[in-house]
Amino acid sequence: MKKCSFCAEEIQDEAIKCKHCGEMLNNQNSLNLTKTIERKKMGCGSWLVLAVLLAVFINWITSCGNTTTTTTKSDIPDNITICVTAQQYVEHFLKAPGSAKFPSCHASTIENLGNKKYRVTSYVDSQNSFGALLRLNYTVLMEYKGNDRFQLIDVNTNE
Ligand SMILES: [Zn+2]
Repeated sequence: MKKCSFCAEEIQDEAIKCKHCGEMLNNQNSLNLTKTIERKKMGCGSWLVLAVLLAVFINWITSCGNTTTTTTKSDIPDNITICVTAQQYVEHFLKAPGSAKFPSCHASTIENLGNKKYRVTSYVDSQNSFGALLRLNYTVLMEYKGNDRFQLIDVNTNE
């Protein structure tokens, strides 16, 4: 028998909880429990820090992207606009523009030459004057005039 350190009543040696006052008697156990709780709290804390960092990071990327689109919208054309404009220029040089089959814009090479000049290199499949389908490689050189408008500088095609 031993005495409960909380209420001084006599209890079994193996008792882990006092039957008189209901206190936990195994100090080692309760200590471990506290440690576990602390560790759990720590874990939650690190996840919280990570989550906050992630939120800040995402916010930073989003705001960064937003600023780029709002401030440079009229200065830098997007690749799809460049690619489609080049295709329109090339169509004028085709004998049968209606038969023209352009590949997806991902198949176009777009080079920014500086001074708002862009060179688009790609190919088009279209019918020649004999009605045969030919693949034509083309290079379009053009200058960006702002607001999604371009000025054609040069079109080069070779079969
Ligand atoms: Zn007790």
